[in-house]
Parts: sequence; structure tokens; C-alpha cells
Amino acid sequence: MGFRHAIMTLLLMVSALPAQAQLRVFACEPEWAALVRELAPDAELTTATSYLQDPHYIEARPSLIAAVRRADIAVCTGASLEAGWLPMLLQRASNPDIQPGRPGLFFAADHARLHAPHDHVDRSMGDVHPEGNPHVHLAPDELPDIARALADRLGEIEPGASAAIQGRYIRWRGHWSRMRAEWREKAKELEGHSVVVQHSSFQYLLRWLGVETAVDLEPKPGLPPSASHLSQLLAEPNLGKASAILIASHQDPQPAEWLSEHTGIRVVVVPGTVTGEGPTETLGGLISEIIRQIESAASGVSHGGL
Ligand SMILES: [Zn+2]
Repeated sequence: MGFRHAIMTLLLMVSALPAQAQLRVFACEPEWAALVRELAPDAELTTATSYLQDPHYIEARPSLIAAVRRADIAVCTGASLEAGWLPMLLQRASNPDIQPGRPGLFFAADHARLHAPHDHVDRSMGDVHPEGNPHVHLAPDELPDIARALADRLGEIEPGASAAIQGRYIRWRGHWSRMRAEWREKAKELEGHSVVVQHSSFQYLLRWLGVETAVDLEPKPGLPPSASHLSQLLAEPNLGKASAILIASHQDPQPAEWLSEHTGIRVVVVPGTVTGEGPTETLGGLISEIIRQIESAASGVSHGGL
């Protein structure tokens, strides 16, 4: 075999290899898909849920099983958020790399300080989530630790890309710190305001902002609002000073609208997670947007507007 021929053969072999063995990522929720995209933009991503779905309750449908089966890593929230569907999905996919305790299964909540342990009940479990509130993706102080752990893990799964992933993490972190400083400024104006909520979806962010929870439309965490609970809420003294009824896009707006009709407090609907487009495409953009909406509602109240 001549030298030239050998080179040609080698080139053919190289081009026949799967292009840089692209990292295949399965994300349980859009927020983690967005974070993976920041750290590893070339990864092939499948996301199990959208901002219009309640991440507690989805079906382990065949397309998701197939995606887990061929993924290199699954990135999920953990802390029992997906307890109603992820175990079955993992079992049916039977991907040996994506199992509890393996590097191929990453839980964001494992790298965050969770609030309110013993206080998160879930309809499908009818049970307490002992780990605490799993809705940690809107926690400005927890995201950097989660992102760093995710960057390390992605690098572990794909060592060839590790340096590039670390570089992107450092850039992401700088950007996040700048945004966090802006949020901190806005929080000064919001401190002491209160909102009506439905579930603990926004709790980390509200607490960080110093925005209080006037009442919760859910009678107990995880239980849907009931007519009797709603009418009881009308007597709550805290309601009087609430700036808004803050609910997520995936939630049924009817209870919030009912309360709004009876109290005049306006309903503010924001995506509970990234939407894949516009200002709410990234986690940072989403937090800025939620703050902007609360601010607008709060200024309407304090200036007697509407
Ligand atoms: Zn929840």
C-alpha cells in the first residue's frame, strides 16, 4: 500500500467516525436543558417536559424511554420532583449508565441547599418530600453551584470536551454574577411586598427578593386549590396587602382568577421555567422577567394604579 493510499484510507476512516461522538443529553426539565446548552452547546438534547407542563406529572412515553436509552447523561432536578415518573422511565430504558448512583444520572438538587425540608407534598405520592422544596432552578444563589457540578459531570462523561466546558462555565458564572447584582438592586424596591402564590414553584426567588407569601392557593403543598379553601382565603388579613397573584403558565388560572374577581388583586402569569424563545429563553432571562412582572404589579399597587 502506497503512502498516499494509506493517507486516503486514514482520512476515509476518520470521516466515517461519528462526528466527534456528540454528547447526548436527556433533560427532565427545560431549565436543565438550558443550562446544558450554555455549557455544551453542541450536545444533542432531549427535554422531557415544557414550560406548559407540570414537571411533577408527566407520562413515561415511548419517545422518552428511547431518548434515555441512547443518552450519555440524564440531567434532572431530583429531590423527588420526578418521583412520579422518572424511576419508571429509567427502568424501562434500562440504560446501565443512567441509573441512581452512576455518573450518568445528575440531580441538580444534590448540589443545592434546599429550603423547607419536610414541607413538600406531592399529589402522586400523597406524601412528604423529605429533601425539601425541589423547585431550585430559580434560586440565584444556588445556580452557580449547580452549574459548576454540572460542568464537572459533563466533563467526566466527555473528557475531550472538559476544558471547553469549564471555560464556558467560567463565562456563564461571570454573566450570572452581573445579573445577580442587577436583581439585588431591584430587590431593594420589592422587599416587604407580598404576593399570593399557588404551590412553592417561585419560593426560592421570592425569598431571595424579600417578597413575602401572603397566602397559597393550595390548601396544602401539592394539593390543588379547592372551593372551600379559596373562600376561606377571603378572610385572610394578609390578602389586603398582596401586590399580585403570581402563578405559572402551566397552572390552571381559574382559582387565581376567582380570587382576583373577589379581591381586585391582579393575576400575573409567568413561565415556571425557560420557554425556549424570547427574553425567557435562559434561566437568567427568566428570573429578570419574573422580577420585572412583580415590580410592575407592585408599583401598580403602591401608586394606586390599575
Ligand atoms: Zn412541587
